Parts: sequence; C-alpha cells; structure tokens
Amino acid sequence: MRRSRRVKIVATLGPASNAPEMIERLFEAGVDVFRINMSHSTFDGVKKLHAAVRAAEARFERPIGILADLQGPKFRIGNIAGERVTVSEGATFRFDTTESDGGPERVFLPHPQIFEAVEPGHTLLLDDGKIRMCVTDKTASRIDATVLVGGHIASRKGISLPDTVLPVGPLTEKDKKDLDYALRLGVDWVALSFVQRGEDVRLARKLIGQAAALMSKVEKPAAIADLDEVIAHSDGLMVARGDLGVELPVQRVPGLQKQIVGKARAAGKPVVVATQMLESMISSPVPTRAEVSDVATAVFDGADAIMLSAESAVGQYPIEAIHTMDRIAVEVEADPSYSAIVHATRTPPQATAADAIAAAAHTVADTLKLAGIICYTATGSTALRVARERPGLPVIGLSPVVATGRKLALVWGVHCVLTSDPENQAAMVRKACRIAFDEGFAKAGEGVIIVAGVPLGSPGTTNMIRIAYLDDTGNPVAEGG
Ligand code: PEP
Repeated sequence: MRRSRRVKIVATLGPASNAPEMIERLFEAGVDVFRINMSHSTFDGVKKLHAAVRAAEARFERPIGILADLQGPKFRIGNIAGERVTVSEGATFRFDTTESDGGPERVFLPHPQIFEAVEPGHTLLLDDGKIRMCVTDKTASRIDATVLVGGHIASRKGISLPDTVLPVGPLTEKDKKDLDYALRLGVDWVALSFVQRGEDVRLARKLIGQAAALMSKVEKPAAIADLDEVIAHSDGLMVARGDLGVELPVQRVPGLQKQIVGKARAAGKPVVVATQMLESMISSPVPTRAEVSDVATAVFDGADAIMLSAESAVGQYPIEAIHTMDRIAVEVEADPSYSAIVHATRTPPQATAADAIAAAAHTVADTLKLAGIICYTATGSTALRVARERPGLPVIGLSPVVATGRKLALVWGVHCVLTSDPENQAAMVRKACRIAFDEGFAKAGEGVIIVAGVPLGSPGTTNMIRIAYLDDTGNPVAEGG
C-alpha cells in the first residue's frame, strides 16, 4: 500500500477507535502512526492496542508506528468544599499547604515544588487557562495571588505556571512505570510531556536509550527558551498547541509553530503539528473552513506529520477526519505553490557526508527527472537526511530493521520497505530497482537514485550515490556504471 501524500498522519486511539477492526479501517483511511495517550490508558488497554496495531501491520504488510505519549508532570489543586467556588477579578486568593477543603479564599496545593520555585509577578493559570492570577507574595507554605481573570474554581482542576521553571524531572513515577511497560511491549516512539529544558530530554534518554525514538512535546515557555537544546537531545518534536496555547497567549501559537517546525526541519528531526486540527469533526462529519486552512498551513510549513487527538479518540467521525486530513494534504501537495513554499523554508545541508549526499541526490534526481530516491537505511539516519531535503520525488527507505521502518512511518515522504541487506553493490542496485518497480514508484525506462552507507549496516556512514535505469522487467539496464 502506497500513500499519495508526503506528510504523515498520526491518530490518537481512544474509545471511538480502539477496536481492532477500527484500527485496520483507520490505517486504510490513511493513518501512519497510532498514538496511545498514557494519561487515559491501563496497561491491559495498551497491550490490546499494541497487539491490534501489530496485527494490522502484518495484515497490510506495511510498517506502522506506535507513539506512547506519557502524561508528564501535571499539577492539580486540592478539593473545594461544595465542589466549586467563584472568584472575581481583583480578589486575593491563597494556595497553601493545609490539607483541608478549600473555599472562596484559599485551596490546598499538594506540590511543594511550586512553593519552592514560584516568584511574585509570576502567572498562575487554572482550568486550562480560563482563570488567570498573578502572584503577589509567597512563603514556603503559602502563595498569595490577585485574580486577573475570574471564574469558577472546581476541585482538582489543573494548575499551570507558564513563567516558572519548576524543579521537577521530566518523568513522574507514573511515567516511569508507563514507560517501562511501553518499552517492554515495544513501542516505536515515546513522547515526553511538559518538557522544560534540553536537560530533561537528556535525562529521559538515559532511561530510554535507543529502545524507542524520543519525541519532545513543546508546550511550555521554558522549552521554547531552550528550544535548540531540546531539539538537539530529541529524535522528534511535537508542537503541542493545546497546552502551548494555555501557557502562552494563543495568538503566539502560529508563530511558534513556524519556529518549531523550521528548527526541527533544519535539524532533520521529524516534527508533528498537533491539537484541534479538525476539532469540529468530533461531532460533525465536515470540517470548518478555518480547520481546513489550519491543516493546510501545517502541510505548507513542511511538517512531517499532522495529528488528530479527540477527533479520532472520542469523536463521532474518526474515519471521516482521517479522510479529510488525507484529502487536504494531497490537494496542498499538488498545489503549484507548494514546492516553492516548502523549499523557501529549507535550510542548507550541514557539513557532513550524509547531508552532502542527500542534497546531491536531490539535485541529481531533479535534474535528470528521476522517479525516486532509494535509501538503504539501517537506523533510519540516511532516510532522515534525505527527507530533510523535502525532495519533490518519492523517497523509498529499504531497511532490514523492522523498528526502523516503524520509526520512519512518522517521517515526511518516506515509504519504508523491509528487506534484507544485499550482499554487494550490484545486488544493491538490482534490489533497489526491483522494489521501486514492484511498489509502483518507477516504470520501465525510468531512473532511480540510490543512496547508502557502505558497508551496509554501519550506522551514520552515508557515503554512496548511484543512478540506475530500469529495463522492461524492473531490472537495472546496465550494471557496474
Ligand atoms: C497538547 O497540549 O497539544 C497535547 C498534544 O498534549 P496532550 O497530551 O495534553 O493532549
């Protein structure tokens, strides 16, 4: 099965989509990577989803990615007597360490780290940013704040501190257990929530190693401030626009999306644009025109993937939402302005053999109007560097490593085929031509470009580039050229 678009689709699983037959239908409709939200999943549930995705993979004979999204440090206030109170603009409200029910003037805050790090002048947000306060005073056991935007405060609501770098690690105890379970099952990507700095990612890497690829969700101002380091330590990024738009003014999100996608692309790290892409399709079979534009913008930005959350997890129209994303992506990528826009935001290759070869392959393929770029890729790094070029022709990754195929399911334009490594260069050219022919990427008489690191199987050694033309049977016309 071959997709007719370059951008990939990530869909979140949930009650609307958890059934194995639904997972198959979602894949057929266009999902490349399934996201499991660990905040709402039991171990038994995760195991069933994992098994269902792997069964779909076997049935369709295509690598499919699984992304386990860890909950991360989420802070909540304590209980409120009578469940909720109203606070008005200008009032003073206190957060303290007394474990009794709260009321209109105070509430218990069970997170000592917040008392440690918050400072007068910092903003406190409650209930997804609906209530806004400014800290006026604090001690080790209380925080006093003035209400800037009032509303209802209910028991156990979430609290965010956009200005405060909190002394917490990237993984809670729950995250560590979830991570351990997900890695033992064998997920392909792990997403870290509420990353604050590159150091968080480095610490998480110590636990994950290379057992899965590591995606950092950019949703905190602190992560934006340390974006270069966050990107440097991550394998991929997510523009988590939901929390980003709580912690920062919503009007900053579009610009930040451009910044994060641009920097991730420059680094050659896959980047996902997430949240509320087709929000109205939770309850409507058609999107709003604004949502269509939003999806199109992410595709024009050259993001690797676009994501559905509630639309596919709990919505009434998950299949329609995938079809809608797919159709928008196909249309945008065929638009006469697409190539110029995506390439205007491309950055020059880095001074490495892999990037020089990826850029050369792109130029040669364009100049000779070749049918595709074929990359032999053990870890996925050669395919990533070629995808970084955003070439206008298909990129076919050939890998003997199933985990690489699954990881590359998230990457812009890469169609990965699992196959054993050929024994020598002649066999390498034969196999590349045969697969391009059989998978429908190249016809008789057309040419392909082959990129590899030889000897094969040695990661990070991209050093070979070859052109081959196909005969009528899909074999190379001339060998040894
Ligand atoms: C987001 O905030 O946009 C996001 C993707 O995170 P969550 O897991 O909270 O949906």
